[in-house]
Amino acid sequence: MQIRTRIAPSPTGFVHIGTLHTALFNYFFTRQNGGKFVIRIEDTDRERLVEGAVENLLESLAVFGIENDEGPFIDSNGVIDEKGDFGPYTQSARLDIYKPYVQQLVLQGDAYYCFCTRERLDEMRKAQQAIKQTPKYDRACCKLDNAEVKARIDAGEAHVVRMKVPEGETTFTDLIRGTIKINNKEIDDQVILKSDGFPTYHLAVVVDDFLMQITHIIRGEEWLPSAPKHVILYKMLGFELPKFAHVPLLLNPDKTKLSKRQGDVAVEDYVKRGYLPDALINFVGTLGFNPSADKEIFTRTELTKLFDLSKVNKSGAVMNMEKLDWMNREYMRLLSIDELAEAARSFVQADVESEPVRRALVVERERVHRLDELQEAIDPYLIEPAYDPSMLVWKKADSADAKLQLDGIRGFIQALDDATIESVEKIEAEARAYIDANELQNGNVLWPMRVALSGHEKSASPFEFLWALGKGAALQRIDKAIGMLNK
Ligand code: GLU
Repeated sequence: MQIRTRIAPSPTGFVHIGTLHTALFNYFFTRQNGGKFVIRIEDTDRERLVEGAVENLLESLAVFGIENDEGPFIDSNGVIDEKGDFGPYTQSARLDIYKPYVQQLVLQGDAYYCFCTRERLDEMRKAQQAIKQTPKYDRACCKLDNAEVKARIDAGEAHVVRMKVPEGETTFTDLIRGTIKINNKEIDDQVILKSDGFPTYHLAVVVDDFLMQITHIIRGEEWLPSAPKHVILYKMLGFELPKFAHVPLLLNPDKTKLSKRQGDVAVEDYVKRGYLPDALINFVGTLGFNPSADKEIFTRTELTKLFDLSKVNKSGAVMNMEKLDWMNREYMRLLSIDELAEAARSFVQADVESEPVRRALVVERERVHRLDELQEAIDPYLIEPAYDPSMLVWKKADSADAKLQLDGIRGFIQALDDATIESVEKIEAEARAYIDANELQNGNVLWPMRVALSGHEKSASPFEFLWALGKGAALQRIDKAIGMLNK
């Protein structure tokens, strides 16, 4: 059997980090099994549609190299097109497909027309809530006879169609959660066709997953309460059940449900803030799934190989942002210099082709967590720093000593040969040898040297600065420092 999976996002704006989470799990599972990965656009909720959301979704997934085998894609002219044999892949283009299934359910007595007004439904809900009952449709319209239903429809009265949840229990297996059993008394007679002629999510998702031959429905835990309704509809329609896997919710560090606010959860914002796509794949792709207890860094290829639905946790997965920061730095470290320059290009206003900028980037990638911190980090290399000369003085020394040491450092830098100045390690070894040979103290020498080169109390080491600046610029900065101490 060919494995077929899907994600079925609603185009309601930005891409939620939870969507990336389920997309990755679907993607790993599908690629591991040589299956087909489908994107289907669920746009039946017409009030929540956002212009450009589908483009944004496809572009965001492309950043992570998540390519669908079927469904919408952006063609070479930048226009949305569709591929695959099971289209259309957008629900609003499938309205005629759903209608016969609604008819079938009505004819079977598994669904009924409902003419209740919003006011009546509101009143009913309030009354039920007042006596602490879970709100549920009271089936008033289920009792209408066929003639009356026909007359009211013919008269143009607004109506919906509801599924008639049977008595008994609904049981199904979830690949992550095991057997799920629910008493049908707890399930509302869900609307399946709305008054605007659009199906609701519940009907459309069942019909589409069946017609698109989806074998595994891997989606977020927030859809678990809907699954029994779907299972009932599958049975009513005589469809074979797919396999379900509800992946854990993503949580804030305080274990509350991840917010819906765009700034915190939009995938595109994470990219804009300078998290590398590979780091995000590693981080998000291991939320609720830990391939190995003693390793944290996994490439997409490794995750595709190791992913195992049966090892996905049931409990919510906490998003530890410190871990993401750490991981992102690890990924920045893995980049070649060309890749680093390329990644930094849109984050820094500096010529990333130039040697001084590249060297500054190489040093500072060890000290920042995100690409958007690089500009501030490399500024001290590119702009001659202004600082108070008192900063040059080591806490256990005085200004005369600082000047004396800087004179010495000047000679030391001047004397370094080309091979040494090309290596941070060699510069450091030479500097330590110089300190030892002259019986000096580390602090007295390295503090003023570092401040003179960086202009900052805190910065990368003097060896790194010297390497990044090069001899000429370094000597200029030392001279400037000596000049300031002379005043
Ligand atoms: N349209 C739903 C969403 O927005 C899809 C849920 C599902 O995967 O069944 O996430």
